[in-house]
Amino acid sequence: MTQAKILIVDDLKTNILALSMILKQVDAELVTARSGNEALQKVLEHDISIILLDVNMPEMDGFEVAAFLKEDEATKHIPIIFVTAMDRHDGNSRKGYLSGAVDFIYKPIDSFVLLSKVNVFLDLWRLRAGLDSEIQQRKENEEKIRYLSDNDLLTGLCNRRGFHVRLKSEIARSKRSKEMFALLFLDLDGFKKINDSLGHEAGDYLLKELSKLFKNSLRNSDFIGRYGGDEFVVLLTGIKHESAITQKIEELIQIASQEFIYDTHIMKVSVSIGVALYPEHAQSDTKLLSYADTAMYLAKEEGKNCFRFYTQELNEKLKRELLLDEHLKYALERDEFELYFQPVIDLQKKEVVGAESLLRWKKNKTLGFVSPEEFIPITESNGLIYDIGLWVLEETLKLLDEHPQLYMAINASSLQFMNDSLYSKLKEHVESGRLDPSHLEVEITERLLLDNIGSPKNYLLDISALGFSLSIDDFGTGYSSLSYLKSCPVNTVKIDKSFVSNIPDTSNEALCKAIISMADALHLKVIAEGIETEFQKDFLTTLGCDYSQGYYFAKPLEKEAFLAFVAKGIQ
Ligand code: C2E
Ligand code: MG
Ligand code: MG
Repeated sequence: MTQAKILIVDDLKTNILALSMILKQVDAELVTARSGNEALQKVLEHDISIILLDVNMPEMDGFEVAAFLKEDEATKHIPIIFVTAMDRHDGNSRKGYLSGAVDFIYKPIDSFVLLSKVNVFLDLWRLRAGLDSEIQQRKENEEKIRYLSDNDLLTGLCNRRGFHVRLKSEIARSKRSKEMFALLFLDLDGFKKINDSLGHEAGDYLLKELSKLFKNSLRNSDFIGRYGGDEFVVLLTGIKHESAITQKIEELIQIASQEFIYDTHIMKVSVSIGVALYPEHAQSDTKLLSYADTAMYLAKEEGKNCFRFYTQELNEKLKRELLLDEHLKYALERDEFELYFQPVIDLQKKEVVGAESLLRWKKNKTLGFVSPEEFIPITESNGLIYDIGLWVLEETLKLLDEHPQLYMAINASSLQFMNDSLYSKLKEHVESGRLDPSHLEVEITERLLLDNIGSPKNYLLDISALGFSLSIDDFGTGYSSLSYLKSCPVNTVKIDKSFVSNIPDTSNEALCKAIISMADALHLKVIAEGIETEFQKDFLTTLGCDYSQGYYFAKPLEKEAFLAFVAKGIQ
């Protein structure tokens, strides 16, 4: 707390000296003035706690000085003690109180009385000053809390809350001025990797640097906030043309993809950006944000390090995904799945050897039939694929329990190789003697092979080591080459149906021929998918293709129909 200050006002120097002598014992700084005017001046210059004011002064007397001080908001609370030689009973004291005095001291001065009165008022002043500073402190704290609740400490940008406030006011402003603006939703690609491999400090450093660069690249009228971990939101305001938006976005993408150096490490990320426009796409803050976010997901889906504008179709797609996601959560427990079996034919021996299990979801009352190509990716993103995958295995095993001579194939999603859920179930069934692994094939995608190379736990190898065979589904559509398969534990390739169904066609014919002869050289079995015509069947049989699957022989069938098909055989 600051020290108290007492202002002594008297036109006589001797009086000032006398008062000062007595007040030396008080814990306060003394300020003096020799006239009313000077007193008013000193009050302005100093933060005065009490005034000892002589009543009788030439030019401006004490009452006038008091009246001035009481008129001013800033000085009216300063306690004034009149010092006077006048008779305490002559009515002047009444005038003094009316002009704002809080007390009187009569001359000749009794130092004891002076000190005790001054001390009382000083105590009061200190109490009040303490209270004031407490209020000040509280105000500062509230200010700090408000700052923290609207701003992000790490980057200094405003946070999610602060951004919402700004977005709302931008909507109101643009509505009035009939202008358009763009809301950009940015999500860094590969940021988690940096955090995981180099630590949070490196990640924080990158976020800080990027925030600075992003901010510097924007105009003053634009706005940027940090929405979450590695998410940023940007407002590009007063837009006249969409080309101005794309130009700015390309600049942001450029900024994000540059290299940063932290403690001898080179860090590199990129950014995916979704854009929603006001008023074209939406006029509310929540919709704009959700649309920009949706568009950002599309940018991620379509390869990252790029931007996408929101579109109505995108919204439909997302709504549909959300709807399916909602229904999928209960599909297993409501027994909505069925397993169909598509016969696999030995082309050379002309017999049915087994089937591929294919999942069907058509018992949902609201949705009706939904293709696995549509719902499997959703089960992969919500994690349901693990349980659903085990259900498919279980249903396939039920068929194998009854017909152990068959060779069955199940499809497995790449995710099912990321943990041991599928592996440990397979192992359990082999060890219990329920399942002969040579009668079950697991179909995987080419992508999985590439991703799995050098991964810490290689469940592919483990599953193969249990005696199961692995086949590459939709072969030819992915990235691997046949020679690459040499190093992988793969036994079979399934030629993708897009090549087979285009036959007769010289380039597709050549492709099938090449796949079959190379697979032969690598001792891999070949299954041709999607045979629909006699010509295709004959063509592939002549090339020496081992097995086939396709509508020409049979569509995927319900269990009973499949078993009937097996019993009947093919002519
Ligand atoms: P896929 O594993 O390549 O399965 C073959 C797909 O081709 C099946 O489609 C099948 O009905 C279809 N097909 C077979 N022969 C012909 C033909 O002659 N002509 C035509 N046009 N199509 C034919 P489906 O059953 O719709 O399955 C689509 C995809 O969904 C599957 O492709 C597979 O990737 C996935 N899938 C299906 N069931 C499962 C499952 O249980 N788990 C996992 N992870 N994926 C599954
Ligand atoms: Mg398959
Ligand atoms: Mg396939």
